[in-house]
Amino acid sequence: MSVKTRFAPSPTGYLHVGGARTALYSWLYARKHGGRFVLRIEDTDRERSTQASVDAILEGMKWLGLDYDEGPFYQTQRFDRYREIIEQLLASGLAYRCSCTKERLDALREEQMRHKEKPRYDGHCRDRLVSANEPHVIRFRNPVDGVVVFEDLVKGRIEVANKELDDLIIARSDGTPTYNLTVVVDDMDMGITHVIRGDDHVNNTPRQINILTALGAPIPKYAHVPMILGDDGKRLSKRHGAVSVLQYAEDGYLPEALLNYLVRLGWSHGDQEVFDRQEMVELFDLRAVNRAPSVFNTEKLNWLNQHYLKTLPQERLLPEFRKFVVALGVENPDEEKLAQVLELMRDRVTTLKAMAEESRYFFVDFDDFDAAAAKKHLRPVAQEPLARFLEKAKKMNEWTPQSLHGLIEETASELGVGMGKLGMPLRVAVTGGGSSPSIDATLAIIGKEKALCRVERALAWIRQRAEQAQQH
Ligand code: GLU
Repeated sequence: MSVKTRFAPSPTGYLHVGGARTALYSWLYARKHGGRFVLRIEDTDRERSTQASVDAILEGMKWLGLDYDEGPFYQTQRFDRYREIIEQLLASGLAYRCSCTKERLDALREEQMRHKEKPRYDGHCRDRLVSANEPHVIRFRNPVDGVVVFEDLVKGRIEVANKELDDLIIARSDGTPTYNLTVVVDDMDMGITHVIRGDDHVNNTPRQINILTALGAPIPKYAHVPMILGDDGKRLSKRHGAVSVLQYAEDGYLPEALLNYLVRLGWSHGDQEVFDRQEMVELFDLRAVNRAPSVFNTEKLNWLNQHYLKTLPQERLLPEFRKFVVALGVENPDEEKLAQVLELMRDRVTTLKAMAEESRYFFVDFDDFDAAAAKKHLRPVAQEPLARFLEKAKKMNEWTPQSLHGLIEETASELGVGMGKLGMPLRVAVTGGGSSPSIDATLAIIGKEKALCRVERALAWIRQRAEQAQQH
């Protein structure tokens, strides 16, 4: 039997890292076994489901490269099918109409709570004849005896006695199907062999197995993946910072890094940390998924992102870097310059966004010098080294890191000062701030004309400041 897995998000919010990890595990399992991966949008909660959220899920999956072989299927387009199954269950006595009023159910619940019992439906309508014309819901006739047993591929053997399960509602009073019914019908119709999902659903599984059994459908294998916690031990949520996949994309993370981070979050293969897509597919194993919750660690994600920024081929990074530079307002960044800056910066930053922001001065002129850097390095003592450098640099024909290095060295030694006495003022002059990659490479990429203009501007700034100081 060939493997078929699915990712079945409810489109009631963005695609968060927990959902993305579930999707990844399902995808990996299918790919590893040469099976198929289905995307199913569980949008039956019409009030909470939004198109924006559907779009975010589709876009997030695309960005992560989690391609699906079937779907997206939308549950709202399958109401006729659910209706059909509900009718079938009713006709065969495996489901029944229940006309219990809200008041009755509330009173029942209170009574049970008072006796410290678990609130559950008491089967009042199980053997009553309720006409289709009366207001009613439809309940599944859960077996009363026996136990439901399944081998969870992550959690191990799980056993639940049927007497713990009440007759759950499968159709609401307006006829719409409920979650447990739609999931079961879809998993059956779509031929899902492995249900990999968050362990918040583990309590639904025995109920779903009972319905599948009633329908004569094969029971898939289940793997319930423990949840993700924030660093404070609470369930990961917006409070912990970015949790939406697309937010990571916007913040300058690479999908390679996020996928690698997510695969390791709750799964391990020896002490290996770095996995490319191919390796993940080959090595992933549900049985090695952690039983305990995992803690999200942004530093580790940053480390992986940095790793991929350092190691991925230039062709892969260039278009990504380009997007972030364009987002800074640079309309048509020069391709060659982009490539040069990328090579210079890729070892120095954690994200593509930081790379673009920190290399802004390569692409556009800056308005002001960073105040602290200017105060420290653009002082009257810097005037002579800068002026001397400027004069010599104007005459240079070859504008390369090597020739610039030679020039800086020569100028500093002529003046009898350390290289830093020229290097730092020069850096602030041409980049606006006190930190940049090596000054010779930086000057080379900025280009002769621009670099010299900026040095002149810095000199003018120093003079102006000195005059102002005298006047006071
Ligand atoms: N739609 C459910 C959710 O988003 C998942 C259902 C399932 O995987 O069985 O939590």
